[in-house]
Amino acid sequence: MENYDVIIIGAGAAGLTAAIYTCRKKLKTAIITLDIGGQTMLTNHIENYPGFDLIPGPELMSKFEQQASKFGAEMIMGEVELIKKKKIGFTVELKNKETYDTKTIILAFGKTARRMNIPGEDKFFGRGVSTCATCDAPFYKEKTVAVIGGGNSALEAAELLTQFAKKVYLIHRRNEFRADEVTIEKIKKMKKIEILLNWLPEEVKGDKFVESFTIKNAKDEKTLKVDGVFVEIGYELKTDWLKSLVNLTDSGEIKIDERCRTSQAGIFAAGDVTTVPFKQTVISAGEGAKAGLESYKYIKGDTTAIDWK
Ligand code: NDP
Repeated sequence: MENYDVIIIGAGAAGLTAAIYTCRKKLKTAIITLDIGGQTMLTNHIENYPGFDLIPGPELMSKFEQQASKFGAEMIMGEVELIKKKKIGFTVELKNKETYDTKTIILAFGKTARRMNIPGEDKFFGRGVSTCATCDAPFYKEKTVAVIGGGNSALEAAELLTQFAKKVYLIHRRNEFRADEVTIEKIKKMKKIEILLNWLPEEVKGDKFVESFTIKNAKDEKTLKVDGVFVEIGYELKTDWLKSLVNLTDSGEIKIDERCRTSQAGIFAAGDVTTVPFKQTVISAGEGAKAGLESYKYIKGDTTAIDWK
């Protein structure tokens, strides 16, 4: 079994920055992750990351990844299912049953896109169903798409999609949006966007790829001919599997102190998955750096834990 000094779970801004710091301290570091780049990948225009006037999220994350790899971070693609505490250190078990031993862990897997949980959604995920308009919009040139949701993500996705698609249905379950007023006003004026309010998602249908999307309300049901369905209905934290190991808030965020320590000595956490206020790329990067440096201190003997009582 492979032995690491640090296993980082998640490869967003927090996880990749943590890896840069641990690798530069010559700690043997692996990042176990389902995807690379995290939430920042979903943003096309970043204007508040210092050092860059304007940079697309995917470009910024690609720089993070290259830097982490350059310093020696190993990337393991997979989903962690279990963390077992040993006498010294931890064993991390993946869904595919691979296991890795490590002295410390940094939890940095952020949030997960919420799913509609309707028939056809899983079957066509990656074949017309997407949770990332920034990544997939260019595939829908002259096509018809549906965007689901009423928050800033959904409205911004609809706006972005008008640059490629010939028609965009914006489908929301209530009769008013929760996005910013400025964005709502802009969307209402866009000719390619047809707004459908008070409609719930019902089913995604197709053959090899998405061909239609059925929606319903109290009185009616209708099927829209679409080539793509963009699910933009917010995010959720998947931390339930950790609750016997670290303290969580009622909403599932991992409780940390100002040094990114969790309630479990040797386990640190950083970024959107934690209680740190403001979910921003620059903040996640800073938190990742702190968690990386704290892991180093811990391995060097500073094993002080917080008294969570
Ligand atoms: P939000 O939680 O703000 O909105 C989610 C939307 O999806 C809501 O309109 C909700 O409906 C709807 N929804 C939730 N579950 C379902 C479901 N099962 N079926 C159908 N519809 C559903 O998430 P966002 O991702 O839009 O935004 C998250 C945060 O990030 C917000 O604070 C937002 O302001 C921020 N953000 C900011 C941006 C910016 O400033 N440029 C860009 C993107 C996000 P309902 O309204 O009925 O609850």
